Amino acid sequence: MNCLEFERLLDEGAPDRLPAEALEHARGCVSCARSLARARSLERALEAHFASEARLPDGFTERVMARVERGEARGVRWLTLPSALPWWTRAAAEPGVVLALATVALIVWRGDRWQEGARVAWDGLVGAATSASDWLTTLGFAPVGEAFARAFAPAGGVPWAVAVGLVLGVAPLVVLGGWLAWRAGERLVQAVAAR
Ligand SMILES: [Zn+2]
Repeated sequence: MNCLEFERLLDEGAPDRLPAEALEHARGCVSCARSLARARSLERALEAHFASEARLPDGFTERVMARVERGEARGVRWLTLPSALPWWTRAAAEPGVVLALATVALIVWRGDRWQEGARVAWDGLVGAATSASDWLTTLGFAPVGEAFARAFAPAGGVPWAVAVGLVLGVAPLVVLGGWLAWRAGERLVQAVAAR
């Protein structure tokens, strides 16, 4: 081991845990022996310093919590501070409001594109309804299929936008009905299983 290797080991810290060959070198080298002594005394000093400072003063946590509670007793409500804002700032931050505003902004910004897209989607929907009604007729459910087709057929004179609005208005009711039917089915299954 040479002096450079010894210094490098010393820089890695822990002068008390040096390998035997390093200690052997320090015994025969005055300069490295001095470095080792310096490193050891520095470590002692650091240990002594942090051993006395690292502990929190007695009752520190209790005093902080008592101060927080006194603050709350004086009317500072840490968790409800946002309610101090005017109602409209809070309303504007509601996710639903943000979403609605973003949608309105998009429609205002790119209204023509959106209408075009909706028109294409509507044509596809009518096509799907027609093929579904054909399929129902093949299976022998002609009356159901006719009702289905009538519901989706673009009525003469009704603007497509009105028809889209009707479908959008009715769709949540259809979804709700489906969900209720599903819940009823679940209850039925549970009742049968419990018997
Ligand atoms: Zn040396």
